[in-house]
Amino acid sequence: MASGCPMMQAKTEHPCFGGDHGKAGRIHLPVAPGCNIKCGFCERRFDCANESRPGVTSRILTPEQAVARVRLIRRHMAMQGGVHLKVVGIAGPGDPLANQKTFETFRLVREAFPEMTLCLSTNGLLLEEKMPQIVEADIHSLTITINALTPATGARIYEWIRHGGRHYGGETGAAILLERQLCGLEAAAGAGLRIKINHVYIPGINDHETLDLAVEVRNLGAQVMNIMPVIPVGLFRDVEPPSDATMEMVRNQAELILSQARHCKQCRADAAGLVGQDIDVERLEKKRLAY
Ligand code: SF4
Ligand code: SF4
Repeated sequence: MASGCPMMQAKTEHPCFGGDHGKAGRIHLPVAPGCNIKCGFCERRFDCANESRPGVTSRILTPEQAVARVRLIRRHMAMQGGVHLKVVGIAGPGDPLANQKTFETFRLVREAFPEMTLCLSTNGLLLEEKMPQIVEADIHSLTITINALTPATGARIYEWIRHGGRHYGGETGAAILLERQLCGLEAAAGAGLRIKINHVYIPGINDHETLDLAVEVRNLGAQVMNIMPVIPVGLFRDVEPPSDATMEMVRNQAELILSQARHCKQCRADAAGLVGQDIDVERLEKKRLAY
């Protein structure tokens, strides 16, 4: 494939989709506080899509503050030599698609930094209906968190969902969410997005569905899967988290079906810099204000 192909270039630059972790940086912009579902493991100390350690984000930004942060981090990284900010993502701390500020932020970022690869994490409930806006925003990579493959299992993980102005609980809510997630995945794959599926692995709750889920999402167009051990909080505070050996075994089995993102650091909703070498953004911003 010619390196001039913009899709391939963007793909190889994204540190979480096969890019160079040591050179390509990413920033998560915490502009999306609201959520339309309630995961049993979320005490809103998690980033949406469970991609964060507790602590999540120091504060919520406006779209304008978010653009200013991208500018600051981009310049800061360029001064380090050999490393560059390549990816701008929105991953919470709620569900980005449940927050209109998400698209306003992407629009401002795209205007100011046309070279950036844009990415988004979501629980998938609104994915299909937001696809026109996602395509218009020129988003390249998508992470969808899917934790159950059947309504019965979903009902043990999701406390409720809010959809079309109504609340649904139990298997009804879980069935709606699952159907929306899978339709959204198919629509996003059809639109040419790179798709990673996050899956919170909860022993005794959803571990029997993990491999079937890998098959299902691969068949619908996902390219990468990221299986994460549950952190015992909320509804699952008494669950024994899976051991490293169990995670290794599950990922090895799933790898036979779908490529696994083993490097994921479960970054905060306001992470910035190289994956695993985060910049202290608050400190940098305070320093800038001091001058
Ligand atoms: Fe929490 Fe994300 Fe689940 Fe919403 S989708 S409840 S923010 S983990
Ligand atoms: Fe990459 Fe995982 Fe961090 Fe997202 S949370 S930026 S996938 S390492």
